[in-house]
Amino acid sequence: CGIFGVIGASDAANFVALGLHALQHRGQEAGGIVSHDADQGFNSVRRFGYVRDNFTDQNVMKTLPGLLAIGHVRYSTTGSKGQTAIRDVQPFFGEFSMGGAAIAHNGNITNADALRRELIERGSIFQSSSDSECIIHLMARSLQRNIPERMEDALRRVEGAFSIVAMTRTKLIGVRDPLGVRPLVLGKVGDGWALSSETCALDIIGASFVREIKPGEMVVITEKGVESIFPFRPAKSRFCIFEHVYFSRPDSILGGRSVYETRREIGVELARETPVDADIVCPVPDSGTPAAIGYSQESGIPYAMGIIRNQYMGRTFIEPTEQIRNMGVRLKLNVNRALIKGKRIILVDDSVVRGTTSRKIKEMVLDAGAAEVHFRIASPPTAWPCFYGVDTPQREKLLAATMSEEEMRQHLGVDSLRFISLDGLYRAVGEANGRDPDAPAYCDACFSGEYPVEPADMISKGFEL
Ligand code: 5GP
Ligand code: SF4
Ligand code: MG
Repeated sequence: CGIFGVIGASDAANFVALGLHALQHRGQEAGGIVSHDADQGFNSVRRFGYVRDNFTDQNVMKTLPGLLAIGHVRYSTTGSKGQTAIRDVQPFFGEFSMGGAAIAHNGNITNADALRRELIERGSIFQSSSDSECIIHLMARSLQRNIPERMEDALRRVEGAFSIVAMTRTKLIGVRDPLGVRPLVLGKVGDGWALSSETCALDIIGASFVREIKPGEMVVITEKGVESIFPFRPAKSRFCIFEHVYFSRPDSILGGRSVYETRREIGVELARETPVDADIVCPVPDSGTPAAIGYSQESGIPYAMGIIRNQYMGRTFIEPTEQIRNMGVRLKLNVNRALIKGKRIILVDDSVVRGTTSRKIKEMVLDAGAAEVHFRIASPPTAWPCFYGVDTPQREKLLAATMSEEEMRQHLGVDSLRFISLDGLYRAVGEANGRDPDAPAYCDACFSGEYPVEPADMISKGFEL
C-alpha cells in the first residue's frame, strides 16, 4: 500500500490526492482520503479504483477541506480474500475521547487475529476485516492522556510490519515499526510538512525531501514543528529488500540510494553471476527495465525493447484473482515481432512468483520466432510467502517452493533460467560483503525463509517455518 499525509497547507487533501497518484504503483484497488477542518471536523472519501478517477473531481475534493489530510492507496495482502470491500478501504477513522483519529497503514500486522479476538471479547465493534483497524481500537481503549501516547501504547501491542500515517484534529503523526520493514519519508512543503511512503510523491507536490523516518521512530508534527520519539525497544533494522527489487518506484530514493541505480546495479551483478551468449537483452517492462539496462552494460550485449507494454494497464501481479492475472499478461505486454525473429534473446525480469508472467512471455517470444530464450531474474527464487505487506500467494503456489531451478526451467520451457544469488542482491543494494548470515541487514524472508518477526497468526493457522 501507499500512504501520504500533509499538515499546514491549504486544501491539504489536494496535495494528498497528488501524492497518492504518485504512489499508485503501491496499490490500485482502492484509495481514500480523510481531512480535518476546524469548522467541519473530520471528512472522509473512500473509493474503489484509481486516484485519478476519484480524487480529481473538485466536487469531491470540496468535501475534504482543511489544512490537514491523510490518504491511502490499497493493495490487499494476506488478510483479505478476493475482492476488497469498501469497508476495508483506508484511512480508518474513529471518534473517541480526545477527539478521535484517522490512520493509514502500510504493512501487515502479524498478530492481528489474536488482537481482534481479544478486542471483540472486550467489547470493541469492528467495522472492517482489515488487520489495521486493531490499531484504532487499541488507541480508543488506551488510558494515556493524549492521542500520540495512546498510539504508542497501541503500537507496543502490535507485531509485524507497519509504516503509519495518522492524524488527530491538530497533529500529523508518522511511525515506522522497530525493524523499519516498510518505507516512510518526511518532506517539507511550503510552511507545512508531508509524510510519504516514497520520495517520488514528494516530488509531485514540490515538497523537498527532508529525511527518512527511522525504524522505530514516531514523529508528531504540528505547526510548531516535528517532534521525534522512539517508543519501542531498539532493534536492528530489517528493511524489505524487495522494495529495492520491485515495489518502490525507480525515481525514489531509498536508504540514501536511487532505486533506479540499485536496480541497474542488480543487473550488473546478475550479468557477472549468470553470463550467457546471446544477441539481445530485453527487459520485461516495466519492472525488469533498469536491471536489463545493467545486464546489457555489463555483458556488452545490446539492449533492445523486445516486449512492448501497453501503458494503460496496471501491474498484473496486483490484480487479485488468478483469472484476471492470466489474461493480464496479454493485455499488458506484447512482443516486438520484427526485432525478435531469429534472435537469441535474454529476458530480464524482477521476479518469478507463480511463473504466470514468464510462461506467457516465453510463449509469445517463441511464437514470434526467437531462436533461444534465456531468463535472467533480478531476485533470488521466491520460495516463501511475505507476511509483511506484499501479496505473495500461499507457499504451494510459489514455483520455487516446490521446484528446483532446473525443474522451473523445464516448467517454463526456456533454454536457460538463472536467478541472482542472495549475496549478489545484497552487494547490489550496497552491502559490499554480501549477506551477513548472522545479522542480515534486510528482511529477505520471501527468498530465505528467515522471518524477522514471527508470523504468529499464520503459525496458529498451521503455517510451518
Ligand atoms: P508471476 O507471474 O511469476 O506470478 O509474477 C511475477 C511478476 O509479477 C513479475 O513480472 C513482477 O514484476 C510482478 N510482481 C508484481 N507485484 C509483485 C509482488 O508483489 N511480488 C512479486 N514477487 N512480484 C510481483
Ligand atoms: Fe519484503 Fe520479502 Fe520481507 Fe516481504 S518477505 S517484507 S517482500 S523482503
Ligand atoms: Mg513485472
